[in-house]
Amino acid sequence: MELVDPFGRTVRDLRISVTDRCNFRCTYCMPAEGMVWLDRSEILSFEEIERVARICVEHFEVDSLRLTGGEPTVRAHLTVLIDKLSKLRVPTTASSEFAGKQPDIALTTNASTLRNIAYELKAAGLSRINVSLDSLHRERFEQMTRRDELENVLEGIKVAQDAGFSPVKLNAVIERGMNDDEIVSLAAFGRDTGVEVRFIEFMPLDASEEWGMKKVVSQDEIVAAISAVYPLEQMSARGAAPADRWRYLDGRGVVGVIPSVTKPFCADCDRVRITADGQFRTCLFSTTEFDVRAVLRNGGTDDDIATLIRHAVGTKWAGHQIGHVNFIRPKRSMSQIGG
Ligand code: SAM
Ligand code: SF4
Repeated sequence: MELVDPFGRTVRDLRISVTDRCNFRCTYCMPAEGMVWLDRSEILSFEEIERVARICVEHFEVDSLRLTGGEPTVRAHLTVLIDKLSKLRVPTTASSEFAGKQPDIALTTNASTLRNIAYELKAAGLSRINVSLDSLHRERFEQMTRRDELENVLEGIKVAQDAGFSPVKLNAVIERGMNDDEIVSLAAFGRDTGVEVRFIEFMPLDASEEWGMKKVVSQDEIVAAISAVYPLEQMSARGAAPADRWRYLDGRGVVGVIPSVTKPFCADCDRVRITADGQFRTCLFSTTEFDVRAVLRNGGTDDDIATLIRHAVGTKWAGHQIGHVNFIRPKRSMSQIGG
């Protein structure tokens, strides 16, 4: 049975945060110091995550699972979880390209250790990798992530491609005055390496609360900057995918932009999320969470969990209000929710 929200959108994609911890401290996400981590006991076990995912996949026909965090690769034995998730099967009756198969399983990572684990991830059943990379200059990379890891990330991308992830996608958050002068060079990196670059508009989810509209580089500006150098043509409508996509007219690949702030894609949103501590959210910007962990740990049945999820989805709003006077920032920041 599909999960349909009050605005007629069908839920297809579950984003699972496996940890709130991270080995980077990106300025647009975390403060340099002082993050308070969840206690180990608060975090869902792999068995608990697998149970929630199974209910979503087998009961609600969700066909896409995205592992995120925090930095998902800092969670020990991540491949064990991927292996468990890869054994789930989307019902054969589902109207999905994955009907009868394992769901699409993706990982969003800063890629600092990807060079060591890419082959293992592939063997465990991971379908896709999205790497976050915002600068190709070592010093700027260090300024943005507060870690000197650019070389490792670049090597990680290469090894992921060698391991057969195709295409590797690259997420680049663009912040005015920080890395907006690298839009064209990041696009060129994608063209040269076969990585599909997706630029992301800076969202008000930074723990230090320094976000402001002035720091947002809009989709229109990003596309204008790229097409001035590499002419582009827009591809057909994105559907439920968050990125609008453009094709290079010279045939050298595709580039995307995720315009969460200036052109929100809420009307087509098919996503729900579960935080590392088992709180179910129907939007990145929700101010309400539903305590799935309590049901899991108090002897709840699969039906009890499904009922809570259905109830939560029944409260999903039409869309976020970034930039409007009535926008309320969620209490948790990006790494605590799971981006
Ligand atoms: N640590 C992993 C990584 O960085 O890829 C996964 C978690 S991270 C929170 C997921 C994505 O959110 C990354 O692509 C990151 O660049 C993006 N992100 C974090 N804070 C953001 C913000 N304030 N605005 C827009 N994107 C943000
Ligand atoms: Fe860590 Fe990802 Fe947040 Fe950067 S964006 S601090 S890598 S969770």
